[in-house]
Formats: sequence, structure tokens, C-alpha cells
Amino acid sequence: TQACLSAIDGADALGAIVHKTPELALERAKAADQRRAEGDAPDMCGIPIGVKDLFCTEGVASQAASKILDGFKPEYESTVSGKLRDAGAVMLGKLNMDEFAMGSSNETSVYGNAVNPWRAGNSDASLTPGGSSGGSASAVAADLCLAATGTDTGGSIRQPAAFTGTVGLKPTYGRCSRWGIVAFASSLDQAGPMTKTVRDAAIMGRAMMGHDAKDSTSANLEVPDFEAMLTGDIRGKVIGIPQEYRMEGMPAEIEQLWSDGTAMLKDAGAEIRDISLPHTKYALPTYYVIAPAEASSNLARYDGVRFGYRAEMAPGDGITEMYEKTRAEGFGPEVQRRVMVGTYVLSAGFYDAYYNRARRVRTLIKRDFDEVFAAGVDAILTPTTPSAAFELGQRVSDPVEMYLNDVFTVTVNLAGLPGVAVPTGKDRNGLPLGLQLIGRPWEEGELLNTAYALE
Ligand code: GLN
Repeated sequence: TQACLSAIDGADALGAIVHKTPELALERAKAADQRRAEGDAPDMCGIPIGVKDLFCTEGVASQAASKILDGFKPEYESTVSGKLRDAGAVMLGKLNMDEFAMGSSNETSVYGNAVNPWRAGNSDASLTPGGSSGGSASAVAADLCLAATGTDTGGSIRQPAAFTGTVGLKPTYGRCSRWGIVAFASSLDQAGPMTKTVRDAAIMGRAMMGHDAKDSTSANLEVPDFEAMLTGDIRGKVIGIPQEYRMEGMPAEIEQLWSDGTAMLKDAGAEIRDISLPHTKYALPTYYVIAPAEASSNLARYDGVRFGYRAEMAPGDGITEMYEKTRAEGFGPEVQRRVMVGTYVLSAGFYDAYYNRARRVRTLIKRDFDEVFAAGVDAILTPTTPSAAFELGQRVSDPVEMYLNDVFTVTVNLAGLPGVAVPTGKDRNGLPLGLQLIGRPWEEGELLNTAYALE
């Protein structure tokens, strides 16, 4: 813990940590030492971690990187961060992210962007660590903590993991309780671990999962010992390669990475099968209807009364002006865009044309996966992102170009499946590149074992 705290003190330029909690960390580290001395030490006991600012942490600022939650210090702990705390993990601080987890580059944060510790070749241009869990990825990659929590609504664990050479697991929808995590799109949101290795993801992931009566979508299922399942033996496993992910204009290095990964799994004894997921091309537009729709509803609670920020009032202002000014000043431009898109697609006149249609297409996307798994495929291998980390500032002015980053990751959330991003190579500038494995529901253990064979 002390080594991490001093690393953090020297790393302000990365912008990864937005609320530091050194006293709390030392107190928890001492308690962890005590537990170890008493022989009561779960795997996470004493492990210094960072927690994404989206998780409510008791008595510690939890702002979802938004001005509208300025000064908000929850009186409760999210179930997931509480499980880690109870397992003895030591929180070093809260980590940067895109505002309300909306973004792919950590550039929509009220705290300013986080920076990727990697550089392209000899260039000194600052790169994005990805988003929305950019602070988590940056902190893990720069050794400011041993692991971090992330959340993934459309790729926010897996894409930043790919950009920073770290491992990111998005569990099956329902594995991790959403209770106490600031809601973005409730039917898509999942918490998960961001770590240096697959083994660490197995250990930390298990500690984060489990049934919680406070989240009605939380699954009441046993969480197996994932670490014990890491044998590296994948003989006879069927790995699907979906043709629809071979996008036009995909960089040759990504093609190469993908075929190298395929060859590796084949050499390890897996059977490689070409598969089709025909509705893939509708995934991005479907996601960018459903996610803003749910966000516009979830974000209605930020009204200047219950939480955080309230705008200055002018004489004569009533409650309507208070709401309007607070929301106009408290939400950044990307969040406002999502709220507007969301309210539009949910409005009486357009509900059927957009929201309902997107929901139906979502079912078709899910069915594509169901059919492939029913035909005997154990896991699906794809690239995690269409490129390596890009420069900060490069894409922020064009939302559509930013949304295209999520092309390989959003299908997994729409279908509620587990997905893991594993670093497997470098591009010509030495930047990390990653592959994604998608598994059957509740089979995170098998999925991590396949990732282990790729690592
Ligand atoms: N980049 C996607 C978005 O902006 C995904 C974000 C996420 O997974 N939280 O919505």
C-alpha cells in the first residue's frame, strides 16, 4: 500500500486518481495485516486497488466524474466495492472516468482526461487510456494500484484494457450487483475487474460477484473458484470466428493480431469454426438508442434537490428554473446529448419507431449468439477494438467517430454475455493491442481459462 501511495504521489500528470484516500488506505492496510496475522485472509486481503468514481463509497466523494454530483459523499457503500472491502482489499482512491460513464476516451470527465502511460514509438503525444474506465486502466497499467474496478455498459472495461495492455472482464449481466453503482443504462451496466493478468481477473472478479437481494436483476447462482479453473487446457473447445467482425477498412495489424490469436488457440488444441452473427451490423445503432433512452430516465434524479450541485438562483426563479439551470450547468455536453437523444426516442411520437424497434433488434442480436452457442461453440474470438489507443483530442469533436470505437464490444452488453479483453500483441508503434473472448452466460470461469491460454 505504501509503495502504491508513493507511486500515486508521483503520477499526478496521468490524471488517473481523482480522490485520493491515503489515510483510509493505511488504516485498511493495517487491518489487513492484522487479519493475515490471525490467519483469516481471503485472496484480496491487503491488495491495494483503485475504485472507479462511479461506485458509491461510504464517506468518500463519488461523483461519476460529473459536476452535478459535486460534493456528494454517499452514506453507503456499493455492494461490489463493499464485497472487496470486506474481503480486505485496500482502496487507495477513486479513479477518473468519462462523465456518467458516457464516452470512450475519458475526455468527458469534469476532472479533465486521464492519460495513457503508453507512448507511440518516439512520439511524445499523449494518448487516451480509453473510456469510460480510463482512470482504472491508466492506474493499473502505470502500477499505481494492483487492480481496479471498472464498469462496462458498451465496452468501458474491455476497450480501455485493450488500449493499456491490461486485462478486463465484463461479467454476465446479473453476476455483479448494480446496487450503489451510479446508473447509466440499467439493462446493460455491469461491474468487473481490470487487472494486469488473467489470474488476477479470476481472483478479483470472483470477489466482486454474487447474489444481492438489493438488485432485482442480480443472479442467485454460485460463483465458482475461477482461479482453480485456470488450467490452460482448452483441448476440444470450439472457438467461433464471426465473419461479421471482419470490418471493411480494418487495419492489417488488427487482422494479423486476430489470426495470430486464432492460431494460438488452435495450437493449444481448440477447434476453430467460422460462424455468422448476422445482426452484428445493427448493434451500434441499437446500443445508441437503448443506452441513451435508459440514461435519460436514470439521470432524471439529478434535479438540484437530492444530490450534489445546485445552480445559483436569480430573484424570481422558481423550481422549474432551478431544475433547468442546475441541469444545464451540472451536465457536460456529452451527457446532455444523451439525455436529449434518450428523451426523443422515448417520446410518445417516436417510441415505436426508435426505442421499440431497437428493443426488437436487441432480441435478434441476442438470438444470433444463442444459436451459435447452441450449435456447440464454447467461445467467440474477436478483436477488442478497431485500432490501438488514439491521441487525446483527436476524436472528441466527432461523436459518431467516437461511437465507432465500440463496434466490437456493444454486442456483448446487448446480449448480456460475459466478455474478456486480453492483451495479445503490439502495433507497429509498440502500442498494446487486445483480443476479446465472448462466452456463454455464467461461464466466466471457462472464458477466463481460454483467455489464460491466449495470454
Ligand atoms: N463508449 C460507450 C458509451 O459511450 C460505452 C460506455 C460504457 O461502457 N460505459 O456509451
